[in-house]
Amino acid sequence: MDTIEEREIWFLTGSQALYGDDTLRQVAEQSRQIADALRRDTGIPVRIVWKPVLTEATAIRRVCLEANADDACVGLIAWMHTFSPAKMWIAGLDALRKPLLHLHTQANVELPWSTIDMDFMNLNQAAHGDREFGYIQSRIGVTRKTVAGHVSDPSVTARIASWARAAAGRAELRGLRLARFGDNMRDVAVTEGDKVEAQLRFGVSVNTYGVNDLVEAVDAATDADVTGLVKEYEDTYRLAAALRPGGDRHDALRYAARVELGMRAFLTTGGFHAFTTNFEDLGGLRQLPGIAVQRLMAEGYGFGGEGDWKTSVLLRTLKVMSAGLPGGTSFMEDYTYHLEPGRELILGAHMLEVCPTISSGVPSCEIHPLGIGGREDPVRLVFDARPGPAVVVGLADMGDRFRLVANEIEVVEPAEPLPNLPVARAVWQPQPDLRTSTEAWLTAGAPHHTVLSSAVGTEELADLADILGTELLTIDADTTMRRFTREIRWNQAYYRLAQGF
Ligand code: MN
Repeated sequence: MDTIEEREIWFLTGSQALYGDDTLRQVAEQSRQIADALRRDTGIPVRIVWKPVLTEATAIRRVCLEANADDACVGLIAWMHTFSPAKMWIAGLDALRKPLLHLHTQANVELPWSTIDMDFMNLNQAAHGDREFGYIQSRIGVTRKTVAGHVSDPSVTARIASWARAAAGRAELRGLRLARFGDNMRDVAVTEGDKVEAQLRFGVSVNTYGVNDLVEAVDAATDADVTGLVKEYEDTYRLAAALRPGGDRHDALRYAARVELGMRAFLTTGGFHAFTTNFEDLGGLRQLPGIAVQRLMAEGYGFGGEGDWKTSVLLRTLKVMSAGLPGGTSFMEDYTYHLEPGRELILGAHMLEVCPTISSGVPSCEIHPLGIGGREDPVRLVFDARPGPAVVVGLADMGDRFRLVANEIEVVEPAEPLPNLPVARAVWQPQPDLRTSTEAWLTAGAPHHTVLSSAVGTEELADLADILGTELLTIDADTTMRRFTREIRWNQAYYRLAQGF
């Protein structure tokens, strides 16, 4: 159950028996048409599954319990075509443990002014049927996304698609297994966190393995497989002369390929879809994994450097949420600034590990010394990130809760070539400006490790945060420090109260 296309969202329609069989047949037919329109929408990445019209409490509770128990079902869309007295929904909604979207729509776009009669009014009364449903959801305290509008409107289906991606991300998190090769970088604070709380809230299971368990898998890779993978590198990237067959560093490239094969074997065998490394803890590895990590990220694995499992979890989640979308998603770190007044920029990179899905062109495969780690020179892919709108998002453990912070950014071309920088990098303008962005980020206590995505945006992140019941602070074009500081204060109170005692 790894691909987003295998996930399902169930489409529920509420009504009641009062209207008689003829009306209910029409309700069923029209709700099938709405569900079909959503199923045909290519922007919605999961399968929409229509369920028979619900007219009484027992059936409503049963379908909610079935949704809870079905691993394929990642969420429910509910629409009250007619009036569905909402006490019927209490038991079901109270039992529901899957994400919910309340679709406030109707079958017709236009009122049939010249022919409208009481039969039409009887059939098409979502305008108040959905108000009754909204009341009971708020009365119970059900977290949901409410989307209003006709399904023929692309802005309506786009908002449903965003939520569907977040629901798929949540489903991924529930079963995610993360392998840490070694512990966190010593003395670093923000990469720490409560792994028990993460498993309870998100579902992800985070465990550490001795690096030499990985070394065993690396050593077990066959020479033939190494040769095959080196050939793939030659065919895929612009290979530095020294790394080519016959070049004086070709052996280093072969070892880098061996690390990739070993890592993939270890992760596949263990059912892991996310991992971390730590340059302080490399055991018998001869190089800090560079190209191996970069290519595994490009395949969809989550990754965090220096033992940063929270960013690795976030990266894997966003990789799943962005399946099939243009753009890329990478591990990232704010590195250094261009502070020219009026043209301020952030340069993001990492020691090696930036995902080639955000590359503007064919990456070049190079080898350079690495001052830290104390191992042989690592092989890495070097490139500039593709210009365009994107978001950076970080996950911090605030002690009593997790906090997501997102900043909308515009990735730009570097002002000049960077011939001496031996790592992949992204240069961006943060919204609303560098001063507000960084002051807000620091005031929020958000991390230096992030996920940069040009595939998913703020709406998907907001949907995910709501579904997970996790705080999200957004820094965008409208952010001012005065409001942002107040929001942090209010959130402190809200999230403590919302936890209960
Ligand atoms: Mn780092």
